[in-house]
Amino acid sequence: MVGNRQPEVNIGLVGHVDHGKTTLVQALSGSWTDQHSEEMKRGISIRLGYADATFRHCEELDEPECYTVAEECPDGSESEPLRTVSFVDAPGHETLMATMLSGASLMDGAVLVVSANEPVPQPQTEEHLMALDIIGIDNIVIAQNKVDLVDADTARDNYEQIKEFVAGTVAEDAPIVPVSAGQEVNLDLLIQAIEEEIPTPDRDPDADPRMHVARSFDINKPGTTAQDLAGGVLGGSLVQGELEVGDEIEIRPGREIEEGGQTEYVPIETTIRSLQAGGETVDTVTPGGLLGVGTGLDPSLTKGDALAGRMAGPPGSLPPTWEQFTMEVDLLERVVGAEQGETVDEISTGEPLMMTVGTATTVGAVTSAREGECEVNLKRPVAAEPGTKIAINRRIGARWRLIGLGTLTD
Ligand code: GDP
Ligand code: MG
Repeated sequence: MVGNRQPEVNIGLVGHVDHGKTTLVQALSGSWTDQHSEEMKRGISIRLGYADATFRHCEELDEPECYTVAEECPDGSESEPLRTVSFVDAPGHETLMATMLSGASLMDGAVLVVSANEPVPQPQTEEHLMALDIIGIDNIVIAQNKVDLVDADTARDNYEQIKEFVAGTVAEDAPIVPVSAGQEVNLDLLIQAIEEEIPTPDRDPDADPRMHVARSFDINKPGTTAQDLAGGVLGGSLVQGELEVGDEIEIRPGREIEEGGQTEYVPIETTIRSLQAGGETVDTVTPGGLLGVGTGLDPSLTKGDALAGRMAGPPGSLPPTWEQFTMEVDLLERVVGAEQGETVDEISTGEPLMMTVGTATTVGAVTSAREGECEVNLKRPVAAEPGTKIAINRRIGARWRLIGLGTLTD
């Protein structure tokens, strides 16, 4: 038995609701999120689902049969681990688009799941692909799922529809792998495609560690006495560098304080007391997968995702905090994801926008709009590097819809 290894790459599972994302993750990872402690499991499942899978190789078999997630090869020998990946299972429901977008900033690549028994594209198939395009995720594999439900002609026709749909997009050259997640058919081919198309990014181990905080928790049971209280826990992903138990970290923008009717954000500093990665308690962590960071913070500060959307890293190393910023704007031609696409109007001064900046989602009012550029005043500030890509959403009807790409200038 080979123990858990820390995942080294995050792979998003995206696509329309019910097309089989969660089933596929289950088929590839076996144990759905139960590699994480109870409190993480409870927290994550209602937001982004993370599940780790170790891709393995059977030496005596040819491609693609040699690719597997099983520890035992057909001849009884033990399979060789290739790498451990972490799947970030995005919710496909249209009302959860903001969650998908904030997850996208953690994805090194993506598997777009498209059901073979429905016309292409379904609304969130298109919307999620557009989001990958906007965030700049171009290592993509397309899983044409549920092929067990269609005959060969329908499968071929559906394949042509997918081809036509992705032409001219970031997924134009993505391999399309027919699979059945439910019947576990062609998963070896899918693993091979992922191994080839979604490499582990080169990472600089000496870069200052930087964590995107996607969740935060108070893990104490009600009624725990003060002396037994465990410190606040942060959940998220490291995008660069390494973190070690004992490291000092700063969290930005920190917490909201009110003074004389003014709200202000003060960075928080704390010490890392424990680390959890790949389902184990560890001393150091590297990028990839879901990370749990036990801190010395008062758990009331981390309760109920209070610190979601923040960044953490060594004090003084984090990007600036913005309460307002200017962004270059690249609008889509039409609103995607809606049943009938409508054209996107120019952004106007005074209108509210919802923006995803890294893992942070924030609402802001446009204070000045010019062609190709606008200035926004944020309700809640964000920490971000100039040049960060921003997904811009506008309220259309009852929901926020993706209307374009912003680039943070200053
Ligand atoms: P998600 O919303 O994209 O995460 O979709 P789920 O994984 O929850 O799957 C939606 C439904 O489709 C469930 O009832 C699955 O059992 C079913 N399903 C998923 N993959 C397959 C498949 O390959 N074949 C068949 N027949 N059903 C599937
Ligand atoms: Mg699902």
